[in-house]
Amino acid sequence: MTERTHHVETTAVHAGDVHPRVDGAVVPPIFQSATFEYPGGDGRADLKYIRLTNTITHRVAEDAVASLESAEAALVAGSGMAAITAALLSVLRAGDHLLAQGGLYGGTHGFLHEELPAMGIAFDLVDGRDPASWERALKPNTRAIYVESLTNPLLEVGDLDAVPAFARAHGLVSLIDNTFASPVNFRPLEHGFDLSIHSATKYLNGHSDIVAGVVAGRAPLVEAARRKLVHLGGSLDPHAAFLLHRGLKTLPLRVGRQNENALAVARFLDGHPAVSRVHYPGLAGHPDHARAAALFSGFGGMVSFELTGGLEAAERFLSRLRLAIVAPSLGGVETLVTRPAATSHHGLSPEQRRRAGIADGLIRLSVGIEHVDDLRADLEQALAG
Ligand code: PLP
Repeated sequence: MTERTHHVETTAVHAGDVHPRVDGAVVPPIFQSATFEYPGGDGRADLKYIRLTNTITHRVAEDAVASLESAEAALVAGSGMAAITAALLSVLRAGDHLLAQGGLYGGTHGFLHEELPAMGIAFDLVDGRDPASWERALKPNTRAIYVESLTNPLLEVGDLDAVPAFARAHGLVSLIDNTFASPVNFRPLEHGFDLSIHSATKYLNGHSDIVAGVVAGRAPLVEAARRKLVHLGGSLDPHAAFLLHRGLKTLPLRVGRQNENALAVARFLDGHPAVSRVHYPGLAGHPDHARAAALFSGFGGMVSFELTGGLEAAERFLSRLRLAIVAPSLGGVETLVTRPAATSHHGLSPEQRRRAGIADGLIRLSVGIEHVDDLRADLEQALAG
């Protein structure tokens, strides 16, 4: 872990700046060049090429992410899934075993189930809130433990302080997908995690206009992930790296507003007669509220809820929204809404969804930075239908 010297708002604006500035440019320019003149020398660092993820434009975004995550180093990747797969495959070998939290993001769940077995890597899913279940699932060949800071869509918060302690006690690498919390609300490396991963498509960029990923953490582990990414070819295009760096500058402002808006929306929904259940860790009634309050500096912008009228009412509600956009993904400035049973969790059987607690009528909101009165009014009119 690396100490941050400034407040997060200041770090977000200045981290990654190039010194001396390129021709005085306040914003580091995009180096939109696939290859760079070879300066001589036999080090790998002398060979600059976009797929090697070692151009100045990559480094600018990586330095900014590392500063925000309190990390020794960071790597940018072509998508969140590129970051997740490079990180996991840099840690795991054939014959290894992974402990992973149940209820993971669908893409990660699919990678574990559809790709790892063919590579000779075994895994067990455990309850992130129950460290005793990790102990029971531990095997002599267990190499790593992988969790998420908040699960999708029920927004459960695992025992995140216990994960690095458990990993240290058993010689494992601890990895966390910190996408939903963002480093504004939670910095896993300050809690002892080895690697923190993001779909930077979401909050880090924040404008729903690129797909990107990051891996941040201890320098040797990030370098191992970089080597894997270079082999797999999942590099980030410089233009997207530039946009990511630009997005990071406003991350604390955006996430701060999203925390406030989501809490207000969750409270509004919680008191509405058409709503039967609200999942938001900032509400005192959420089963993980106390843990979230202890770990996080904000409860995040994601809220999910069910309507008393079930699936039919959910579909009517979605069709009546005027401001919130019915679209997958999350973490942008605009409020997005989905029905997970029809989108992110469509691949699960109805029985698997039932066991995971995902009702067909469950609605997930990614709350944006609009004025909260306008958001409440939109939800109110859609619920009245
Ligand atoms: N992790 C989480 C928690 C996500 O929600 C997503 C995408 O929705 C991903 C990872 C994958 O990110 P990407 O779509 O950028 O590959």
